[in-house]
Amino acid sequence: MKSIKLEAYAKINLHLDVVSKAEGGYHEVNTVMQTLSLCDDVVVALNESGINSISCNSPAVPLNEKNLAWRAADLFFERAELSLGADIKITKRIPVAAGLAGGSTDAAAVFSGLNTLCGYPLSEGELLELSAKLGADVPFCIAGGTKYADRFGDVLHPFVKMPDCYVVVACGKEGVSTPWAYAALDAKNNNFEAGSYTPRDITKLEAAMRSGDVSDMCDNLYNIFESAIEPERAEVTRIKSELLKMGALGAMMSGSGPSVFGIFTDRETAAAAVERLASLGIDAFFSKPVSK
Ligand code: ATP
Repeated sequence: MKSIKLEAYAKINLHLDVVSKAEGGYHEVNTVMQTLSLCDDVVVALNESGINSISCNSPAVPLNEKNLAWRAADLFFERAELSLGADIKITKRIPVAAGLAGGSTDAAAVFSGLNTLCGYPLSEGELLELSAKLGADVPFCIAGGTKYADRFGDVLHPFVKMPDCYVVVACGKEGVSTPWAYAALDAKNNNFEAGSYTPRDITKLEAAMRSGDVSDMCDNLYNIFESAIEPERAEVTRIKSELLKMGALGAMMSGSGPSVFGIFTDRETAAAAVERLASLGIDAFFSKPVSK
């Protein structure tokens, strides 16, 4: 049967703030997300048995319906009214449970891959809407590039392109579960009760990115989760400080952590930082922003 191979890109948040807590306990956010060249490889093939299968090189990833990629296939076939199955092979490079949308991006690749293999039964808009049922980050992973997102992070708006730079992504050993991170944030912020928290403005970040000033952009990065996660994950603070010592113009945690990214304007300095972090026993990856 037909198969397709896709690169499933990681994302970082250049800005991430909570606006309020909606009914049902979900947090409404303001975020600027950026696709990075760091990626998993996802191969998807159709089968006529109607049963999915999944294989992956990482033991940290479930090989059943708990995998977001598997669930993407189920949702896709149901919406497209096709009695087919998907054989999915994931080569994982993106650290798991790290705030880099690793599961969401594999799911996005499966949505896009199946839509291509099946002759585009769903429009781009339908695919985005369907993918949001799986997780707030999945629509962004399908759209990619640089986007501003609000509501639960699933409603996307165009945003200025990230200036050319190099991004080193580094990750401590202990993962962070997103629900736990939100609970820690709630405890610190009075449960985001009305009027108790004022979100940060993104005007300065936008202006810096529009002018292409990487240093100014780095001065305006923001992630509310740092305040809740850094006291619990000493490695986050340590990696940030190492990245800055190695010449990063800015360093910040991505998503609910614990991954940290450092932004460099010089390729050699960024590559040297990856080597140095590796020598300290820290997994680090050299990457670049990807625009779409
Ligand atoms: P996000 O940034 O979207 O909140 P994350 O990068 O913090 O996500 P993931 O790498 O998606 O976190 O992993 C979160 C959990 O999802 C893991 O504990 C893992 O067991 C599960 N999971 C399900 N499918 C996948 C997948 N394809 N890749 C990685 N993890 C997956």
